[in-house]
Amino acid sequence: MRMSSESRQRITILGATGSVGVNTLDVIGRHPDRYELYAITANSNWEMLADQCCTFEPEFAVLVVEDCAQQLENRLLKAGCRTRVLTGKDNLCRVASHEDVDVVMAAIVGGAGLEPTLSSAKAGKKLLLANKESLVMSGSLFMQAVEQAGTKLLPIDSEHNAIYQSLANGAPGHAGGVRKILLTGSGGPLLRHSIEALAEVTPDEACAHPNWKMGRKISVDSASMMNKGLELIEACWLFAVEPKDIEIVIHPQSIVHSMVEYIDGSVVAQLGNPDMRIPIAHGLAWPGRISSGVKGLDFTGLGDMNFEAVDLTRYPCLALCQEVARQPQSCAIALNAANEVAVQHFLDELIPFTDIPIIIEDVLEQTSCEEAHTIESILALDEEAKNRAVEFIRARRPVS
Ligand code: NAD
Ligand code: MG
Repeated sequence: MRMSSESRQRITILGATGSVGVNTLDVIGRHPDRYELYAITANSNWEMLADQCCTFEPEFAVLVVEDCAQQLENRLLKAGCRTRVLTGKDNLCRVASHEDVDVVMAAIVGGAGLEPTLSSAKAGKKLLLANKESLVMSGSLFMQAVEQAGTKLLPIDSEHNAIYQSLANGAPGHAGGVRKILLTGSGGPLLRHSIEALAEVTPDEACAHPNWKMGRKISVDSASMMNKGLELIEACWLFAVEPKDIEIVIHPQSIVHSMVEYIDGSVVAQLGNPDMRIPIAHGLAWPGRISSGVKGLDFTGLGDMNFEAVDLTRYPCLALCQEVARQPQSCAIALNAANEVAVQHFLDELIPFTDIPIIIEDVLEQTSCEEAHTIESILALDEEAKNRAVEFIRARRPVS
């Protein structure tokens, strides 16, 4: 049955030009009878945002960087596209919380996503959460906002989406009888790399994920398994469990996206091809289902599926996350901030891959363990930790 245009859901995509954003547009484009775009946003990529505006004609396009917004406006004027252009961070929050919006896809990368994502949680939108960093930074405040506003929060991170589906698709009382959550991770492109040679890994090698095509920051996080560590913290908040309730398992093929083990010994898993359009379509249509454009699994052609324990000597970033997951909020904020700075320096070829955990550890050592109950205190701790990481890197760099 086709839905009338009045009943179409109005969507804002925060981070429309990124990997998750583009996949979201792909799914939305398959269902014009169900969804229309209210706003799309990006940091500076005005050319891609212009193409997206011409194709999808959202009401608003937001570019954070002002000069780029001007370029976008000129391009849209020439193309006769009626999308209105806004700029600045405040407008990210505005389009994420506006009363005309039904659904928000939070797909900005890093801590920059925190404020707009939180503003949409406070406004009671159906919130599709890809930006795990916002939950890592502000877990308690964020979940409180979700509860107070009656926000429907749907995890888009493929593992959390799999856990959600394995918990009876988010049905009430879903946590009953759970023994543990099995959070799977591929181990990234460096799973079989010699540990001694990790210092020589280049950004392109670290970003060459065997199964997923993602943005560069999360790709480096996958290579270091920082991504799995952030996902551990994310899962604790999303499903109200403790780190001890979650076992991390390496599954190189990325076919099983995570599992839930119940006290009767049943294990429920969600499987599928590694393609973000599956969790995105699940979130968009929940509690129903829509086609995502992804083929079903060909079980007879799959080959082996392996599961292994994690070797923490290979993945020191994951060990740091396991520690931080048991600590107050300030530690998670510092870890996330130091990681963002370290990853950017690695991508810019200023530090070796193996310096990432060293930088994070140093910043954590200088962080006092405390809770953070306000957005102001969270942002202040984030900035402080980023400054410390930059100072530490400067002090370590050889004088040329
Ligand atoms: P990406 O780097 O491909 O895209 C990031 C998007 O955020 C872009 O649209 C960019 O313009 C925008 N952006 C960057 N900096 C910004 C800033 N300072 N202010 C406003 N906007 C800014 O990232 P991605 O791989 O799509 O990941 C997005 C988020 O989703 C991350 O939090 C990531 O951990 C999570 N995630 C991604 C995948 C994946 O398959 N890519 C899977 C699971 C979770
Ligand atoms: Mg994931």
